[in-house]
Order: sequence, then C-alpha cells, then structure tokens
Amino acid sequence: MNETKYIFVTGGVISSLGKGIIASSLGKLLQARGYKVTIQKLDPYLNIDPGTLNPYEHGECYVTVDGHEADLDLGHYERFLNEPTHKDNSITTGRIYQSVIDKERRGDYLGKTVQVVPHITDEIRRNIKLLGAKYKYDFVITEIGGTVGDIESLPFIESVRQLRWELGKNCMCIHLTYVPYIAAAKEVKTKPTQHSVKQLQESGVQPDMLVLRTEHLLNKEILKKVALFCNVEADAVMQSVDVSTIYEVPLRMQEQGMDEIVLRKLGMPIGEKPTLQPWREFLDKKKNATETIKIALVGKYVELQDAYKSINESLLQAAIYNNRKLDLHFIQSEKLTEENIEKNLSGMDGVVIAPGFGQRGVEGKFVAIKYLREHNIPTFGICLGMQCMVIEYARNVLGLEDANSTEMDLNTPHKVIDLMEEQKNITNMGGSMRLGAYKCILQKGSKTYQAYGQKEIEERHRHRFEFNNDYKKQLEDAGMKCVGINPETDLVEVVEIPTLSWFVGTQYHPEYNSTVLKPNPLFMSFIKAVVENKQNSN
Ligand code: GLN
Repeated sequence: MNETKYIFVTGGVISSLGKGIIASSLGKLLQARGYKVTIQKLDPYLNIDPGTLNPYEHGECYVTVDGHEADLDLGHYERFLNEPTHKDNSITTGRIYQSVIDKERRGDYLGKTVQVVPHITDEIRRNIKLLGAKYKYDFVITEIGGTVGDIESLPFIESVRQLRWELGKNCMCIHLTYVPYIAAAKEVKTKPTQHSVKQLQESGVQPDMLVLRTEHLLNKEILKKVALFCNVEADAVMQSVDVSTIYEVPLRMQEQGMDEIVLRKLGMPIGEKPTLQPWREFLDKKKNATETIKIALVGKYVELQDAYKSINESLLQAAIYNNRKLDLHFIQSEKLTEENIEKNLSGMDGVVIAPGFGQRGVEGKFVAIKYLREHNIPTFGICLGMQCMVIEYARNVLGLEDANSTEMDLNTPHKVIDLMEEQKNITNMGGSMRLGAYKCILQKGSKTYQAYGQKEIEERHRHRFEFNNDYKKQLEDAGMKCVGINPETDLVEVVEIPTLSWFVGTQYHPEYNSTVLKPNPLFMSFIKAVVENKQNSN
C-alpha cells in the first residue's frame, strides 16, 4: 500500500471563492482514477462545531452519519464523492484548543508551558494525519477555511508549513485566489494574486499549484505571468471561470490536467484518463432539460441561500434526473398571511417546508401548509416542516385549536409535538440533539415506501422535539398516517396524507444524503409527483 498523500487547499484575496468546490472537484477526479479519497475541512473559529451557529453566520449546518454537526462544505464533499464523511472530516480551532486544554488538565504536558507552537500546531497536525492513518486513504485533501493572512488561520498555515517538512514528497499545497476584472480598464488584474501568494510564502509555504477564480477567461500570457511571479510551474496554474453549475467544475479542471499534475507532483501512477461518464450524463440531462418546475422553499433564513444548501442541491439533483429545470423560489415564512398566501403559492408546482428552530416564522408555515393541503399541491415537510404539518392538521382538521409544539408554546393544551424524553435533562446546547443516522421502518404501500423501494432505511437527524404518540390514533383516524417509525424508540419519522397527490413530512433530513450520482429517493419521488401533478393539471 502507498503512503497517504496530503493535499492542502488554501485561499487568498477574498473569501467565498469556492475552495470547497475546488477540493471536491479534485477529489472527484482522483477518485475517478480509482484512488480512495477523502476531504477534510479546518475551520478557524472557536466554536467546537457549527451546531450552535445561526445559519446567518456560516450557512447550513451539515450532519454526518456519525452524528457530527459539521461545516456545509462537507455536504459538497459528499455530493461530489458519493462517500460519507465523519467527525474527523470537520475540525475547528475550538476543538483543537479543547483537546489541548483537556490534555493540559490531565497532566499530559506536566512541567511544560503549553503554547500555540508547538502544542496547538501538533494537535492540528495530528488531526490532519488521523484521517489517513485511520481509514487508509490514498489522498487526504484538507481545505483550510478562511483567507491567508487572517490572524485566526495562522496556526493552520503554520501546521501546513511543518507538515511539508515532515511529509516531504507526500504533500502538496494548492492555493486558490481571485483575479478581478476592472471593467473601466477592460483588464484583469493579477496583483492581488501575487500579494496573496507572497503572504503565503512569508508564512513559509510555497504553493505547488494555483487556481485562479475569474469571471473572464484568462489568456495563456496571464497564466504564464502569474506562474513566473508566484514561483509556480507554468502548467500548474489553473483557472476556474464562472460556470452555470458547480458540478461542471470537475470537467473544467480535468480539461486543464489538474489531476494529472497533482499525481505527477506526488509521484503517483497516472494511468488512463477517466471518462466521468455518469457525471457527464448528469450534466447533459441538465443542459437538455427544457421544461421548468417551480418549487418554493418556505423558511425563515431565505435571505441567505446557503442556509438551506443541501435542500437546494437535493432539489436540483432530483429535478435534473426528472429532466426538468429547477426554478426555486425562496419564500420568507414570516411574511405569509391568509391574505397573501394565494398570491405567494398559487403558481408553485411544489413546496418544501424548511427545517428550523424557534417561534419566528412558524405561523406563516401553518398558513402555507393549510393552503397547500387544501389545494392538493405536492408538499414536502422536513424536520420542523414535518412538525408544522402535524400541528396544522391537529389545529385545522382535528379542531384542536391551540395545538402546538412545546418548542413554540410550553403551555399549549395540545402538545402534538413535544420534547423527546432523552432531551429533558439536557442543559448544554452544543452537540446534544438527536443527531446522525437512525433506522426507520416504512409502511408498505406508503409513498415513502414506494420512493425508497424498501422497508428499512437509515437517514440523518438533527432535532430535540418529536411527534407525540398520544395523538397518533386521533391523527391517523382523521387521515394523517404515520408511515415511518423508528424500530427502537417508536418515534414517528414520517407522516403522509395518502388521499393527497404527495404530502409527506419527515422528521429526518433526507437532504444530507443526496449526491450527484445517487440522488435521494424521497426528493426524486417528490419531484416526480410535481411533474405528474403538473402534467395532469395542464
Ligand atoms: N426545532 C425542531 C426540533 O428541534 C426541528 C429541528 C429541525 O428542523 N432541524 O425538533
């Protein structure tokens, strides 16, 4: 077996350049050549994990199968590589410090002054190498969050510098920068890239490859100039021009030989160029789709699209596989009222009721659900969305006027959604929800069963509240069926109204488990229903 190779991806000039997409694209290309690849994210903030962060801060919180609340880039890694990630794939400065401080208290460093260098950097290095050692990957790609030059990412960059000495030929560094276009001068500018590479060099790290993000195609001369000024081999300067979908990026990188150059630099066999056939077929389907479906996402973080990243991507994947263009509308649930609901939702072919926490915006979700149910529009409720479906049904069909979740109203006379028993003694907010993959048994004949084509499934979770089984009989008698149940705890995982065209709510989050080559069956079923419903009503 070869030794694991480590590839670091850093970013310069500005944030949000898409390091995660570049890392994922490279990972995809190496994987397509038969290598075992994983991608890791190092985030420079002090939270132990992003679970306690408001989505407005860093977008969606992703959840791994092993129940870790992780950075949303892990979603990209999984969507591209079609491989699960784990707790070790998402590390924050907070976790590094916590581990070092725990060791200090245990006495592991007895007698020594504990310092950023070497103790924090040693811990960072240990966490990077852990993945290769534990799972025997051929390649570990480590994406360093933040921008080179930030005070808070310094220990990460210093660790990369040290690892380059330690790992020698088994390691390389890719730096992603931005080349702006100045419209008035009709010119692209490489100076920010030069400065950013210089900054990296000042920290002792020489990049082996550069990826230039740009809105305009860069000519050979510019690439050559950047190579020369930045001390990088001429063929190792890639450009990443804006494309219509992130899923095109692996192809653009392959055209420039990115994977071959990486393999050559790391002394690995290159072999045949992969055709990426299924990936290309997916993109062709996207290109060839002519008909559009209009889907609304009703939630409270709609101003920031990243807040529902995995849902957007799952919808897009399912739409493409159903040969449709996705026209996704984000609707602020806080603004929805009985008066404006028709205007907001009547034109929609299908609606997703988003997950979430807290009171803000839920009343609008109830208004939306009532309208969708009464107008038989395909509706997909996820986590809080499913809980809202149950509450709305209890209120408007069972006539339990003040039915609610105890998350929203502790004194509700009808707690149709209530805190899980195991949550009642929990006081810490971090990492304490019901997290990760759990089993669910589906009822034969249900839409959900048909979607998955099997009785037993596993999907990921992130919640504290649950369907209150005291109301199960009443709800079922009135037409809302509990068709997915956790076999160990009896917890209701899926509700459906079988008399409607497609009205399904899941306590779990199917969006965390939908990849380009393996779209989630329930999203596929939802979009299929949307398409059929639309055809029938035409
Ligand atoms: N707030 C709800 C709960 O904790 C739903 C969570 C979610 O939508 N992820 O149960």
